[in-house]
Parts: sequence; structure tokens; C-alpha cells
Amino acid sequence: MQMSLKSRKRRMELQKLLNEGNYKHNVEVLQKGEGALVVCRRPHSSTCASEYIPCEFCKGFFHEKQLWIHAKSCYFADNGYDNEKNFVRNGRCMLAPFLRRADNDENNLNSVIEKMKETEKYPGLKETCFHDELIREFGMWLLDKLGNDDEQRRKDLDNVRTKMRSLARLLSKLNEPKLFAQPLCNFLCAKEFNAVVTAVKSCSKEADSPQLALTLGHYIKQVALLKASVALQKDDPTKKKQPMSLWRCILHNGILRFQLLPIEENVSEL
Ligand SMILES: [Zn+2]
Repeated sequence: MQMSLKSRKRRMELQKLLNEGNYKHNVEVLQKGEGALVVCRRPHSSTCASEYIPCEFCKGFFHEKQLWIHAKSCYFADNGYDNEKNFVRNGRCMLAPFLRRADNDENNLNSVIEKMKETEKYPGLKETCFHDELIREFGMWLLDKLGNDDEQRRKDLDNVRTKMRSLARLLSKLNEPKLFAQPLCNFLCAKEFNAVVTAVKSCSKEADSPQLALTLGHYIKQVALLKASVALQKDDPTKKKQPMSLWRCILHNGILRFQLLPIEENVSEL
């Protein structure tokens, strides 16, 4: 990549590289529960580390109340569809795999899946939810958001099951033309983009619900963020180079559109 020495692009790319390094440091701090977070804007008064969340575009850490101000004008943002709530949600989603995990969490998730109903029309979805790493990760993230048992309503767990099931349904659709079933993780890459869009559309058509396509689009975005964090946590270089935000799912004037975002060149590899 040729960039003139004083260009803004060069400055920003270097900043992003710095943020990536800090991001790795910060998730280690959060995992261990000790050390100091490196943040993009220092707090005026002492604040809790858990109030800091990464920007999904540049990975810089910001206070949860300031994140949206930054994210709306972040140099690397793909603006135009997200709102304030999504920036915080997506940032928290990126951190989720680093902030656990008690054995209990896995057991809770298993008991949630255990109560999932099987249907004749779509058999095997429960099994998929049990075994697919990313769908489990997604379920775990949804359970984290619910808080402890006292704060949960009974319907909340049903919602978690419904969301996991729709991803499992999408995965079985994606696997239809494959000789061997593949995990969801394998489909979240640029090569499979068209296959995913087709599968999303066909799931939504089968359910006779245009809203489902939009909903699945949002789930895929969250699962893509989880995938990148899981790869970083496992230090799996084949997966962490995948772009984090492959997706853009927009409902504009009633028309649903999917776009594949351009893959940024990775400055660290130059
Ligand atoms: Zn940013």
C-alpha cells in the first residue's frame, strides 16, 4: 500500500494499528481481571473498567457514554445504518468471549438448549445449537445480556432459544448443498457471502417473513464480531485475519439490501 508520508490515511492506519495492539492488551487485562486498560480518552474521574467498550471499527476503547460520539465520526466507520444503541451492543459483543467463563455458564446454556422443542419440519436444530461453536457463543452472549436469574423473565429464555434456532436453521440451509456439514464459522467469510445472502433470503421466504431476513442480518453481524474475538482468544491466525464487519444489512424504504464491505488491507502485514 502506497501512502504519502503525511497523508491522513497513513496517520489513521497507524492509529488503527496502535489500537489493535492496545485492544489485545486490554482484552488480556479484562480476562485476567488485573492491569490497566489503555483507552482513547481518559476519564475525568475514576470509572470502572467495565464501562469501557471498543469501537467496532477501529478497536479503540471509549467510555460507554462517549462511544457513540466517537463511532459516528470514526474514520473507519461504515456509517449510515447503525444507531447509538448498536455501537454499545456491538462493542460489548466483541468483549463477551473474553469475559468468562465459569463452568456454570456452559451448564446454563446446555439447559436452555435442552428445553428447545424439535419440530418435524426442521429436525436436528437442537443438535446444531448444542454443537456449533459460534451458535453456542451467540447463545452465551444473549444469556450474558439477560443478567442474573432474578432479573430474567421466563419469556427471555424463550427468546434466546428462538434466536439460536433461527441461526441453526440458517446454518442447515447453508449446508444443504454441501457434501459434509460445516460449522457456521466457515460461512462467515467473503467467499461465502453470496451463499449466506441467498440462504437468508430463502429462510425468510419460507417463513413468509421479510422481517426475518433483517433479523438474521443483524444476528450474522453479531456472530461475525464474536468469531473475530474467539479467534483472537484462541490465537488462531487463520480466523482472526477475517474482516470483522463483513456485513451491512440495510432496510431502506422497505427494501432489504445486503452489502459486502470492502476488506481493509492489514497494515501490519506490509
Ligand atoms: Zn473507531
